[in-house]
Amino acid sequence: MSFAPFFRVDLRRLIVTLAILSGLITLSISFYASYQVQRDSLIASTLEANRAYAAKLAVGTETFFGAVQQQLRYSAAILAAQFHDDEALLSEAERLRLQTNSFNNVFIVDAHRVLRATSPDTRRLIGHRLHSPGSRKASRTRQPMISSPYISAIGTLVVTISHPIIDKDGVYLGYIGGTINLKEPNILNSMLGEHYYKDGSYIYAIDQNRRLLYHPDSKRLGTVVAENPVIDRVIHGESGSQRVINSLGYDMLAGFAPVPTASWGIVAQRPTAVTLHPLDDLMLEVLRQTAPLALLTFLCVWWLSGLISRPLWRLAKSASEMDKTNSPERIQHIRSWYFEAAQLKRAMQLGINLLHQRIGKLNLDAQTDPLTGLHNRRGLTLALDALSAEGHSFAVVALDIDHFKRINDSHGHDIGDQVIRHLAQLMTTCSRDADVLCRSGGEEFLMLLPNTNAESAQQVAERLRQCVEQAQIAPVGHITVSLGVAIWPIHADSIERVLKLADGALYLAKQRGRNRSELAELDHYPPADTNRDD
Ligand code: GH3
Ligand code: MG
Ligand code: MG
Repeated sequence: MSFAPFFRVDLRRLIVTLAILSGLITLSISFYASYQVQRDSLIASTLEANRAYAAKLAVGTETFFGAVQQQLRYSAAILAAQFHDDEALLSEAERLRLQTNSFNNVFIVDAHRVLRATSPDTRRLIGHRLHSPGSRKASRTRQPMISSPYISAIGTLVVTISHPIIDKDGVYLGYIGGTINLKEPNILNSMLGEHYYKDGSYIYAIDQNRRLLYHPDSKRLGTVVAENPVIDRVIHGESGSQRVINSLGYDMLAGFAPVPTASWGIVAQRPTAVTLHPLDDLMLEVLRQTAPLALLTFLCVWWLSGLISRPLWRLAKSASEMDKTNSPERIQHIRSWYFEAAQLKRAMQLGINLLHQRIGKLNLDAQTDPLTGLHNRRGLTLALDALSAEGHSFAVVALDIDHFKRINDSHGHDIGDQVIRHLAQLMTTCSRDADVLCRSGGEEFLMLLPNTNAESAQQVAERLRQCVEQAQIAPVGHITVSLGVAIWPIHADSIERVLKLADGALYLAKQRGRNRSELAELDHYPPADTNRDD
Protein backbone atom coordinates (compact mmCIF):
# COMPACT_ATOMS: atom_id res chain seq x y z
CA MET A 1 0.00 0.00 0.00
CA SER A 2 1.32 3.43 -0.89
CA PHE A 3 1.39 6.30 1.61
CA ALA A 4 0.94 8.89 -1.11
CA PRO A 5 -2.88 9.24 -0.96
CA PHE A 6 -2.62 10.35 2.67
CA PHE A 7 -0.17 13.07 1.77
CA ARG A 8 -2.46 15.25 -0.30
CA VAL A 9 -3.40 17.72 2.42
CA ASP A 10 -1.88 16.97 5.77
CA LEU A 11 -3.16 18.00 9.16
CA ARG A 12 -0.35 20.47 9.71
CA ARG A 13 -1.16 22.40 6.57
CA LEU A 14 -4.81 22.36 7.52
CA ILE A 15 -4.07 23.71 11.00
CA VAL A 16 -1.69 26.35 9.68
CA THR A 17 -4.11 27.39 6.93
CA LEU A 18 -6.96 27.56 9.43
CA ALA A 19 -4.87 29.57 11.89
CA ILE A 20 -3.64 31.96 9.20
CA LEU A 21 -7.13 32.39 7.82
CA SER A 22 -8.67 33.07 11.21
CA GLY A 23 -5.73 35.34 12.13
CA LEU A 24 -6.08 37.29 8.90
CA ILE A 25 -9.84 37.60 9.29
CA THR A 26 -9.53 38.73 12.92
CA LEU A 27 -6.75 41.14 12.02
CA SER A 28 -8.70 42.56 9.11
CA ILE A 29 -11.82 42.99 11.20
CA SER A 30 -9.98 44.71 14.04
CA PHE A 31 -8.00 46.75 11.54
CA TYR A 32 -11.18 47.81 9.81
CA ALA A 33 -12.95 48.48 13.11
CA SER A 34 -10.10 50.57 14.48
CA TYR A 35 -9.89 52.44 11.17
CA GLN A 36 -13.60 53.21 11.39
CA VAL A 37 -13.37 54.28 15.03
CA GLN A 38 -10.34 56.50 14.40
CA ARG A 39 -11.94 57.92 11.29
CA ASP A 40 -15.21 58.69 13.03
CA SER A 41 -13.40 60.28 15.95
CA LEU A 42 -11.19 62.38 13.64
CA ILE A 43 -14.24 63.55 11.71
CA ALA A 44 -16.16 64.25 14.92
CA SER A 45 -13.28 66.19 16.49
CA THR A 46 -12.67 68.21 13.31
CA LEU A 47 -16.38 69.01 13.01
CA GLU A 48 -16.42 70.09 16.63
CA ALA A 49 -13.25 72.18 16.26
CA ASN A 50 -14.70 73.92 13.20
CA ARG A 51 -18.03 74.50 14.93
CA ALA A 52 -16.26 76.04 17.95
CA TYR A 53 -14.06 78.12 15.69
CA ALA A 54 -16.97 79.39 13.59
CA ALA A 55 -18.88 80.20 16.79
CA LYS A 56 -15.90 82.11 18.19
CA LEU A 57 -15.51 84.12 14.98
CA ALA A 58 -19.27 84.78 14.88
CA VAL A 59 -19.15 86.12 18.42
CA GLY A 60 -16.11 88.25 17.45
CA THR A 61 -17.91 89.63 14.40
CA GLU A 62 -21.04 90.25 16.42
CA THR A 63 -18.98 92.16 18.99
CA PHE A 64 -17.31 94.11 16.18
CA PHE A 65 -20.69 95.14 14.78
CA GLY A 66 -21.88 96.12 18.24
CA ALA A 67 -18.82 98.36 18.69
CA VAL A 68 -19.16 99.86 15.20
CA GLN A 69 -22.83 100.63 15.73
CA GLN A 70 -21.91 102.27 19.00
CA GLN A 71 -19.28 104.45 17.30
CA LEU A 72 -21.74 105.46 14.57
CA ARG A 73 -24.42 106.24 17.16
CA TYR A 74 -21.96 108.48 18.98
CA SER A 75 -20.98 110.32 15.79
CA ALA A 76 -24.65 110.63 14.75
CA ALA A 77 -25.41 112.24 18.09
CA ILE A 78 -22.58 114.80 17.68
CA LEU A 79 -23.50 115.51 14.05
CA ALA A 80 -27.19 116.10 14.83
CA ALA A 81 -26.24 119.43 16.41
CA GLN A 82 -23.79 120.54 13.65
CA PHE A 83 -25.42 119.15 10.52
CA HIS A 84 -25.35 122.53 8.78
CA ASP A 85 -21.54 122.81 9.24
CA ASP A 86 -19.75 121.08 6.31
CA GLU A 87 -16.35 121.36 7.93
CA ALA A 88 -17.62 119.75 11.14
CA LEU A 89 -19.14 116.91 9.09
CA LEU A 90 -15.89 116.39 7.26
CA SER A 91 -13.78 116.40 10.40
CA GLU A 92 -16.14 113.99 12.17
CA ALA A 93 -16.02 111.65 9.18
CA GLU A 94 -12.23 111.88 9.19
CA ARG A 95 -12.05 111.34 12.95
CA LEU A 96 -14.31 108.32 12.81
CA ARG A 97 -12.39 106.65 10.01
CA LEU A 98 -8.92 107.31 11.38
CA GLN A 99 -9.64 106.85 15.07
CA THR A 100 -11.60 103.64 14.91
CA ASN A 101 -9.84 102.08 11.94
CA SER A 102 -13.06 100.10 11.43
CA PHE A 103 -13.95 101.48 7.99
CA ASN A 104 -12.32 101.95 4.63
CA ASN A 105 -14.57 104.92 4.05
CA VAL A 106 -16.84 107.06 6.16
CA PHE A 107 -19.52 109.25 4.55
CA ILE A 108 -22.40 111.43 5.62
CA VAL A 109 -25.54 111.94 3.53
CA ASP A 110 -28.51 114.22 4.07
CA ALA A 111 -32.15 113.16 4.15
CA HIS A 112 -32.13 113.11 0.30
CA ARG A 113 -29.13 110.79 0.14
CA VAL A 114 -26.93 113.65 -1.14
CA LEU A 115 -23.32 113.27 0.00
CA ARG A 116 -22.27 115.93 2.49
CA ALA A 117 -18.84 114.64 3.56
CA THR A 118 -16.52 111.69 2.92
CA SER A 119 -13.35 110.38 4.41
CA PRO A 120 -10.96 109.99 2.76
CA ASP A 121 -11.93 113.39 1.45
CA THR A 122 -13.18 113.08 -2.16
CA ARG A 123 -14.62 116.55 -2.85
CA ARG A 124 -15.73 115.70 -6.36
CA LEU A 125 -18.37 113.39 -4.93
CA ILE A 126 -19.82 115.96 -2.53
CA GLY A 127 -23.29 116.96 -3.69
CA HIS A 128 -23.83 113.66 -5.54
CA ARG A 129 -26.88 111.61 -4.67
CA LEU A 130 -26.48 108.02 -3.67
CA HIS A 131 -28.62 105.45 -5.48
CA SER A 132 -27.43 102.16 -4.10
CA PRO A 133 -30.13 99.84 -2.67
CA GLY A 134 -28.34 100.08 0.68
CA SER A 135 -28.56 103.86 0.85
CA ARG A 136 -32.18 103.83 -0.31
CA LYS A 137 -33.02 101.37 2.41
CA ALA A 138 -31.09 103.31 5.07
CA SER A 139 -32.98 106.46 4.12
CA ARG A 140 -36.29 104.74 3.96
CA THR A 141 -36.08 102.77 7.20
CA ARG A 142 -34.16 105.46 9.14
CA GLN A 143 -32.79 102.62 11.28
CA PRO A 144 -29.28 101.52 12.09
CA MET A 145 -28.46 98.86 9.49
CA ILE A 146 -25.85 96.75 7.81
CA SER A 147 -26.25 96.57 4.05
CA SER A 148 -25.84 93.71 1.67
CA PRO A 149 -22.64 93.84 -0.38
CA TYR A 150 -22.99 96.16 -3.33
CA ILE A 151 -20.84 98.01 -5.84
CA SER A 152 -20.20 101.47 -4.44
CA ALA A 153 -20.21 104.81 -6.24
CA ILE A 154 -16.46 104.46 -6.75
CA GLY A 155 -16.89 100.95 -8.17
CA THR A 156 -15.74 98.73 -5.32
CA LEU A 157 -17.54 95.92 -3.56
CA VAL A 158 -18.55 97.17 -0.15
CA VAL A 159 -20.89 96.75 2.76
CA THR A 160 -22.12 99.76 4.58
CA ILE A 161 -22.93 100.08 8.24
CA SER A 162 -25.04 103.11 8.89
CA HIS A 163 -26.78 105.04 11.59
CA PRO A 164 -29.50 107.67 11.14
CA ILE A 165 -28.83 111.28 12.24
CA ILE A 166 -31.87 112.68 14.01
CA ASP A 167 -31.89 116.09 15.64
CA LYS A 168 -33.19 116.83 19.09
CA ASP A 169 -36.65 117.51 17.66
CA GLY A 170 -36.80 114.13 16.07
CA VAL A 171 -36.27 115.38 12.52
CA TYR A 172 -34.42 112.96 10.25
CA LEU A 173 -31.38 114.75 8.86
CA GLY A 174 -29.62 111.93 7.03
CA TYR A 175 -27.28 109.19 8.08
CA ILE A 176 -23.65 108.50 8.70
CA GLY A 177 -22.28 105.38 7.04
CA GLY A 178 -19.03 103.49 7.24
CA THR A 179 -18.08 101.19 4.39
CA ILE A 180 -15.97 98.18 4.51
CA ASN A 181 -14.30 97.46 1.21
CA LEU A 182 -14.54 93.72 0.90
CA LYS A 183 -11.77 93.39 -1.65
CA GLU A 184 -9.23 95.50 0.19
CA PRO A 185 -7.60 94.94 3.56
CA ASN A 186 -10.22 95.70 6.15
CA ILE A 187 -11.03 95.04 9.77
CA LEU A 188 -13.31 92.14 8.81
CA ASN A 189 -10.80 90.19 6.80
CA SER A 190 -8.05 90.92 9.24
CA MET A 191 -10.29 89.45 11.93
CA LEU A 192 -11.44 86.43 9.92
CA GLY A 193 -8.18 86.14 8.08
CA GLU A 194 -5.96 85.51 11.10
CA HIS A 195 -6.65 81.91 10.47
CA TYR A 196 -4.69 79.03 9.13
CA TYR A 197 -5.09 78.29 5.47
CA LYS A 198 -2.57 75.51 5.31
CA ASP A 199 -3.90 72.03 4.61
CA GLY A 200 -6.98 73.40 2.81
CA SER A 201 -8.83 74.72 5.90
CA TYR A 202 -10.55 78.07 5.46
CA ILE A 203 -13.24 80.42 6.67
CA TYR A 204 -15.93 82.12 4.66
CA ALA A 205 -18.74 84.47 5.55
CA ILE A 206 -22.02 84.96 3.67
CA ASP A 207 -24.93 87.27 4.05
CA GLN A 208 -28.57 86.25 4.10
CA ASN A 209 -28.68 86.31 0.29
CA ARG A 210 -25.92 83.68 0.14
CA ARG A 211 -23.50 86.31 -1.12
CA LEU A 212 -19.87 85.80 -0.15
CA LEU A 213 -18.63 88.56 2.17
CA TYR A 214 -15.40 86.99 3.01
CA HIS A 215 -13.54 84.20 1.27
CA PRO A 216 -9.81 83.46 0.92
CA ASP A 217 -10.33 83.48 -2.86
CA SER A 218 -11.07 87.21 -3.33
CA LYS A 219 -12.37 86.57 -6.87
CA ARG A 220 -15.39 84.88 -5.34
CA LEU A 221 -16.30 87.83 -3.09
CA GLY A 222 -19.78 89.15 -3.81
CA THR A 223 -20.81 86.02 -5.72
CA VAL A 224 -23.82 83.99 -4.65
CA VAL A 225 -23.26 80.42 -3.48
CA ALA A 226 -25.97 78.02 -4.48
CA GLU A 227 -26.67 74.45 -3.40
CA ASN A 228 -24.94 74.22 -0.05
CA PRO A 229 -26.85 72.69 2.88
CA VAL A 230 -24.54 74.32 5.41
CA ILE A 231 -25.37 77.78 4.06
CA ASP A 232 -29.07 76.87 4.11
CA ARG A 233 -28.79 76.14 7.78
CA VAL A 234 -26.59 79.05 8.85
CA ILE A 235 -28.66 81.73 7.10
CA HIS A 236 -31.64 80.39 8.99
CA GLY A 237 -29.79 81.18 12.20
CA GLU A 238 -28.64 77.64 13.00
CA SER A 239 -25.23 76.87 14.37
CA GLY A 240 -23.61 73.45 14.31
CA SER A 241 -21.46 71.25 12.12
CA GLN A 242 -21.95 69.01 9.15
CA ARG A 243 -20.05 67.00 6.61
CA VAL A 244 -20.88 68.51 3.26
CA ILE A 245 -20.01 68.40 -0.41
CA ASN A 246 -19.41 72.08 -1.16
CA SER A 247 -20.47 73.98 -4.26
CA LEU A 248 -17.21 73.04 -6.00
CA GLY A 249 -17.72 69.34 -5.26
CA TYR A 250 -15.20 69.02 -2.42
CA ASP A 251 -15.99 66.83 0.58
CA MET A 252 -15.71 69.18 3.59
CA LEU A 253 -16.12 69.07 7.34
CA ALA A 254 -17.86 72.33 8.13
CA GLY A 255 -18.67 74.13 11.39
CA PHE A 256 -20.96 77.14 11.17
CA ALA A 257 -22.47 79.88 13.30
CA PRO A 258 -24.70 82.88 12.54
CA VAL A 259 -23.95 86.56 13.20
CA PRO A 260 -27.51 87.65 14.15
CA THR A 261 -26.96 91.46 14.02
CA ALA A 262 -25.93 91.36 10.40
CA SER A 263 -27.88 88.19 9.42
CA TRP A 264 -24.56 86.81 8.30
CA GLY A 265 -23.20 83.35 8.65
CA ILE A 266 -19.64 82.21 9.27
CA VAL A 267 -18.43 78.84 8.11
CA ALA A 268 -15.13 77.22 9.07
CA GLN A 269 -14.28 74.14 7.06
CA ARG A 270 -11.61 71.65 6.32
CA PRO A 271 -11.40 69.07 3.52
CA THR A 272 -12.34 65.57 4.75
CA ALA A 273 -9.46 64.07 2.79
CA VAL A 274 -6.97 66.33 4.61
CA THR A 275 -8.52 65.45 7.96
CA LEU A 276 -8.29 61.73 7.25
CA HIS A 277 -4.81 61.86 5.80
CA PRO A 278 -2.98 61.18 9.11
CA LEU A 279 -5.11 58.04 9.44
CA ASP A 280 -3.26 56.37 6.56
CA ASP A 281 0.07 56.88 8.34
CA LEU A 282 -1.49 55.73 11.59
CA MET A 283 -2.79 52.55 10.01
CA LEU A 284 0.56 51.93 8.34
CA GLU A 285 2.20 52.33 11.73
CA VAL A 286 -0.27 49.89 13.26
CA LEU A 287 0.58 47.44 10.48
CA ARG A 288 4.29 47.92 11.10
CA GLN A 289 3.81 47.29 14.81
CA THR A 290 1.58 44.30 14.20
CA ALA A 291 3.74 42.60 11.59
CA PRO A 292 6.48 41.22 13.92
CA LEU A 293 3.87 39.95 16.37
CA ALA A 294 1.91 38.36 13.56
CA LEU A 295 5.09 36.69 12.33
CA LEU A 296 5.86 35.44 15.83
CA THR A 297 2.31 34.12 16.14
CA PHE A 298 2.67 32.40 12.79
CA LEU A 299 5.90 30.73 13.90
CA CYS A 300 4.22 29.59 17.14
CA VAL A 301 1.29 28.22 15.15
CA TRP A 302 3.69 26.47 12.80
CA TRP A 303 5.57 24.91 15.69
CA LEU A 304 2.40 23.94 17.59
CA SER A 305 0.77 22.56 14.46
CA GLY A 306 3.82 20.36 14.02
CA LEU A 307 3.52 19.20 17.60
CA ILE A 308 -0.15 18.38 17.13
CA SER A 309 0.05 16.82 13.71
CA ARG A 310 3.25 14.81 14.15
CA PRO A 311 1.79 11.95 16.25
CA LEU A 312 -1.20 11.62 13.91
CA TRP A 313 1.01 11.88 10.86
CA ARG A 314 3.31 9.17 12.15
CA LEU A 315 0.38 7.00 13.19
CA ALA A 316 -1.12 7.47 9.71
CA LYS A 317 2.20 6.55 8.11
CA SER A 318 2.48 3.47 10.34
CA ALA A 319 -1.10 2.54 9.45
CA SER A 320 -0.05 2.28 5.84
CA GLU A 321 2.82 0.00 6.82
CA MET A 322 1.08 -2.21 9.36
CA ASP A 323 2.26 -5.35 7.59
CA LYS A 324 5.93 -4.49 8.16
CA THR A 325 7.58 -6.46 10.93
CA ASN A 326 8.99 -3.43 12.76
CA SER A 327 5.71 -1.53 12.82
CA PRO A 328 4.89 -2.40 16.49
CA GLU A 329 8.17 -0.83 17.63
CA ARG A 330 7.65 2.18 15.40
CA ILE A 331 4.17 2.75 16.80
CA GLN A 332 5.53 2.22 20.30
CA HIS A 333 7.96 5.10 19.77
CA ILE A 334 5.35 7.59 18.58
CA ARG A 335 4.84 10.28 21.25
CA SER A 336 1.07 10.56 21.47
CA TRP A 337 0.81 13.36 23.99
CA TYR A 338 -2.87 14.20 23.68
CA PHE A 339 -6.05 12.22 24.13
CA GLU A 340 -7.08 11.44 20.53
CA ALA A 341 -3.59 10.49 19.41
CA ALA A 342 -3.10 8.34 22.53
CA GLN A 343 -6.38 6.51 21.90
CA LEU A 344 -5.51 6.00 18.24
CA LYS A 345 -2.09 4.70 19.18
CA ARG A 346 -3.60 2.26 21.66
CA ALA A 347 -6.16 1.08 19.11
CA MET A 348 -3.46 0.65 16.47
CA GLN A 349 -1.23 -1.26 18.85
CA LEU A 350 -4.11 -3.60 19.72
CA GLY A 351 -4.89 -4.01 16.04
CA ILE A 352 -1.34 -4.58 15.02
CA ASN A 353 -0.80 -7.16 17.75
CA LEU A 354 -3.89 -9.01 16.61
CA LEU A 355 -2.73 -8.78 13.01
CA HIS A 356 0.71 -10.08 13.84
CA GLN A 357 -0.73 -12.88 15.94
CA ARG A 358 -3.01 -13.82 13.08
CA ILE A 359 -0.19 -13.67 10.56
CA GLY A 360 2.04 -15.68 12.93
CA LYS A 361 -0.64 -18.28 13.38
CA LEU A 362 -1.29 -18.48 9.65
CA ASN A 363 2.43 -18.86 9.01
CA LEU A 364 2.66 -21.52 11.66
CA ASP A 365 -0.39 -23.32 10.29
CA ALA A 366 1.08 -23.22 6.84
CA GLN A 367 4.26 -24.86 8.11
CA THR A 368 2.73 -27.35 10.50
CA ASP A 369 1.37 -30.84 9.94
CA PRO A 370 -2.09 -30.84 11.53
CA LEU A 371 -2.03 -34.50 12.59
CA THR A 372 1.24 -34.49 14.50
CA GLY A 373 2.05 -30.83 15.13
CA LEU A 374 5.47 -31.40 13.53
CA HIS A 375 6.71 -29.39 10.54
CA ASN A 376 5.18 -30.26 7.18
CA ARG A 377 7.18 -30.16 3.95
CA ARG A 378 6.90 -26.35 3.73
CA GLY A 379 8.21 -26.03 7.30
CA LEU A 380 10.98 -28.44 6.42
CA THR A 381 11.96 -26.40 3.36
CA LEU A 382 12.13 -23.20 5.43
CA ALA A 383 14.17 -24.97 8.14
CA LEU A 384 16.55 -26.32 5.48
CA ASP A 385 16.94 -22.84 3.97
CA ALA A 386 17.72 -21.39 7.39
CA LEU A 387 20.24 -24.13 8.22
CA SER A 388 22.04 -23.92 4.90
CA ALA A 389 22.08 -20.12 5.15
CA GLU A 390 23.82 -20.41 8.52
CA GLY A 391 26.34 -22.72 6.86
CA HIS A 392 26.54 -25.19 9.76
CA SER A 393 26.56 -28.87 8.98
CA PHE A 394 23.56 -30.97 9.90
CA ALA A 395 22.43 -34.55 9.84
CA VAL A 396 19.32 -35.78 8.05
CA VAL A 397 17.53 -38.80 9.53
CA ALA A 398 14.78 -40.33 7.35
CA LEU A 399 12.32 -42.55 9.18
CA ASP A 400 9.55 -44.88 7.98
CA ILE A 401 7.20 -47.09 10.04
CA ASP A 402 7.71 -50.77 9.27
CA HIS A 403 4.75 -52.63 7.78
CA PHE A 404 2.39 -49.80 8.43
CA LYS A 405 -0.08 -51.13 5.90
CA ARG A 406 -0.69 -54.04 8.17
CA ILE A 407 -1.55 -51.72 11.09
CA ASN A 408 -4.03 -49.91 8.93
CA ASP A 409 -5.38 -53.15 7.64
CA SER A 410 -5.85 -54.77 11.00
CA HIS A 411 -6.80 -51.75 13.15
CA GLY A 412 -8.22 -49.32 10.72
CA HIS A 413 -7.05 -45.96 9.40
CA ASP A 414 -7.90 -44.01 12.55
CA ILE A 415 -5.75 -46.21 14.73
CA GLY A 416 -3.06 -45.82 12.06
CA ASP A 417 -3.31 -42.05 12.56
CA GLN A 418 -3.10 -42.52 16.29
CA VAL A 419 0.11 -44.53 15.82
CA ILE A 420 1.55 -41.80 13.63
CA ARG A 421 0.74 -39.22 16.34
CA HIS A 422 2.27 -41.41 19.02
CA LEU A 423 5.44 -41.85 17.02
CA ALA A 424 5.65 -38.05 16.59
CA GLN A 425 5.54 -37.68 20.38
CA LEU A 426 8.29 -40.25 20.79
CA MET A 427 10.41 -38.41 18.24
CA THR A 428 9.86 -35.14 20.10
CA THR A 429 10.81 -36.73 23.43
CA CYS A 430 13.98 -38.21 21.96
CA SER A 431 15.21 -35.02 20.29
CA ARG A 432 16.86 -31.77 21.30
CA ASP A 433 15.17 -28.37 21.03
CA ALA A 434 17.34 -27.38 18.11
CA ASP A 435 16.38 -30.46 16.11
CA VAL A 436 13.82 -30.00 13.37
CA LEU A 437 11.15 -32.71 13.23
CA CYS A 438 9.05 -33.10 10.14
CA ARG A 439 6.36 -35.40 8.83
CA SER A 440 7.41 -35.67 5.25
CA GLY A 441 4.36 -37.67 4.16
CA GLY A 442 2.13 -40.59 5.23
CA GLU A 443 4.04 -42.57 7.83
CA GLU A 444 7.40 -41.15 6.82
CA PHE A 445 9.39 -38.59 8.83
CA LEU A 446 12.56 -36.54 8.53
CA MET A 447 14.76 -35.19 11.33
CA LEU A 448 17.33 -32.44 10.86
CA LEU A 449 19.99 -32.45 13.57
CA PRO A 450 22.10 -29.27 13.44
CA ASN A 451 25.84 -29.52 14.18
CA THR A 452 25.69 -33.28 14.37
CA ASN A 453 28.27 -35.57 12.80
CA ALA A 454 27.58 -38.98 11.34
CA GLU A 455 28.44 -40.88 14.46
CA SER A 456 26.23 -38.82 16.73
CA ALA A 457 23.44 -38.85 14.16
CA GLN A 458 23.61 -42.63 14.01
CA GLN A 459 23.48 -42.76 17.78
CA VAL A 460 20.40 -40.52 17.79
CA ALA A 461 18.77 -42.72 15.11
CA GLU A 462 19.58 -45.85 17.01
CA ARG A 463 18.33 -44.46 20.29
CA LEU A 464 15.06 -43.43 18.64
CA ARG A 465 14.70 -46.83 17.01
CA GLN A 466 15.10 -48.54 20.36
CA CYS A 467 12.78 -46.10 22.02
CA VAL A 468 10.06 -46.84 19.42
CA GLU A 469 10.66 -50.55 19.57
CA GLN A 470 10.20 -50.54 23.31
CA ALA A 471 7.19 -48.27 23.41
CA GLN A 472 3.81 -49.80 24.10
CA ILE A 473 1.32 -48.24 21.70
CA ALA A 474 -2.24 -49.16 22.50
CA PRO A 475 -4.05 -50.94 20.89
CA VAL A 476 -1.39 -51.87 18.37
CA GLY A 477 1.22 -52.94 20.82
CA HIS A 478 4.77 -52.55 19.54
CA ILE A 479 5.87 -51.06 16.25
CA THR A 480 9.25 -50.67 14.69
CA VAL A 481 10.79 -48.08 12.43
CA SER A 482 13.62 -48.07 9.94
CA LEU A 483 15.96 -45.09 9.68
CA GLY A 484 18.46 -43.74 7.16
CA VAL A 485 21.13 -41.14 8.05
CA ALA A 486 23.04 -38.72 5.79
CA ILE A 487 25.16 -35.65 6.65
CA TRP A 488 25.26 -32.26 4.88
CA PRO A 489 27.67 -31.30 3.47
CA ILE A 490 29.68 -34.46 4.13
CA HIS A 491 27.71 -36.77 1.84
CA ALA A 492 26.82 -34.18 -0.76
CA ASP A 493 26.94 -30.39 -1.32
CA SER A 494 23.37 -30.33 -2.52
CA ILE A 495 20.73 -30.54 0.18
CA GLU A 496 18.40 -32.28 -2.23
CA ARG A 497 21.03 -34.90 -2.83
CA VAL A 498 21.61 -35.39 0.90
CA LEU A 499 17.85 -35.92 1.40
CA LYS A 500 17.92 -38.51 -1.33
CA LEU A 501 20.91 -40.20 0.29
CA ALA A 502 19.09 -40.35 3.64
CA ASP A 503 16.12 -41.89 1.79
CA GLY A 504 18.54 -44.34 0.16
CA ALA A 505 19.95 -45.30 3.55
CA LEU A 506 16.37 -45.84 4.81
CA TYR A 507 15.68 -48.06 1.81
CA LEU A 508 18.82 -50.01 2.69
CA ALA A 509 17.58 -50.43 6.28
CA LYS A 510 14.29 -51.77 4.95
CA GLN A 511 16.19 -54.14 2.67
CA ARG A 512 18.43 -55.32 5.45
CA GLY A 513 15.44 -56.42 7.51
CA ARG A 514 13.80 -53.33 8.93
CA ASN A 515 13.91 -52.09 12.56
CA ARG A 516 17.38 -50.79 12.00
CA SER A 517 19.24 -47.65 11.00
CA GLU A 518 21.75 -47.19 8.21
CA LEU A 519 24.24 -44.45 7.32
CA ALA A 520 24.18 -43.25 3.73
CA GLU A 521 26.46 -45.10 1.47
CA LEU A 522 29.57 -43.27 0.34
CA ASP A 523 30.24 -45.52 -2.60
CA HIS A 524 30.00 -42.83 -5.19
CA TYR A 525 31.45 -40.04 -3.09
CA PRO A 526 34.95 -39.22 -1.94
CA PRO A 527 35.53 -40.28 1.69
CA ALA A 528 34.92 -37.37 4.04
CA ASP A 529 35.76 -36.60 7.62
CA THR A 530 32.61 -38.01 9.14
CA ASN A 531 33.84 -37.30 12.64
CA ARG A 532 33.76 -33.59 12.12
CA ASP A 533 31.41 -32.09 14.61
CA ASP A 534 31.03 -28.38 14.03
P1 GH3 B 1 7.37 -51.04 4.79
O1 GH3 B 1 7.88 -51.70 6.02
O2 GH3 B 1 8.04 -51.46 3.56
O3 GH3 B 1 7.42 -49.53 4.90
O4 GH3 B 1 5.90 -51.47 4.69
P2 GH3 B 1 4.61 -50.56 4.74
O5 GH3 B 1 3.46 -51.35 4.89
O6 GH3 B 1 4.81 -49.52 5.83
O7 GH3 B 1 4.69 -49.92 3.32
P3 GH3 B 1 4.59 -48.43 2.88
O8 GH3 B 1 5.46 -47.62 3.71
O9 GH3 B 1 4.80 -48.38 1.40
O10 GH3 B 1 3.08 -48.10 3.12
C1 GH3 B 1 2.57 -46.94 3.73
C2 GH3 B 1 1.16 -47.16 4.02
O11 GH3 B 1 0.77 -46.22 5.01
C3 GH3 B 1 0.28 -46.91 2.85
C4 GH3 B 1 -0.95 -46.14 3.40
O12 GH3 B 1 -2.07 -46.99 3.45
C5 GH3 B 1 -0.60 -45.88 4.80
N1 GH3 B 1 -0.67 -44.50 5.10
C6 GH3 B 1 -0.06 -43.47 4.46
N2 GH3 B 1 -0.39 -42.32 5.03
C7 GH3 B 1 -1.27 -42.61 6.10
C8 GH3 B 1 -1.91 -41.82 7.05
O13 GH3 B 1 -1.82 -40.64 7.08
N3 GH3 B 1 -2.66 -42.49 7.95
C9 GH3 B 1 -2.81 -43.82 7.97
N4 GH3 B 1 -3.54 -44.42 8.89
N5 GH3 B 1 -2.18 -44.56 7.05
C10 GH3 B 1 -1.42 -43.98 6.14
MG1 MG C 1 6.32 -45.58 3.67
MG1 MG D 1 6.34 -48.01 5.95
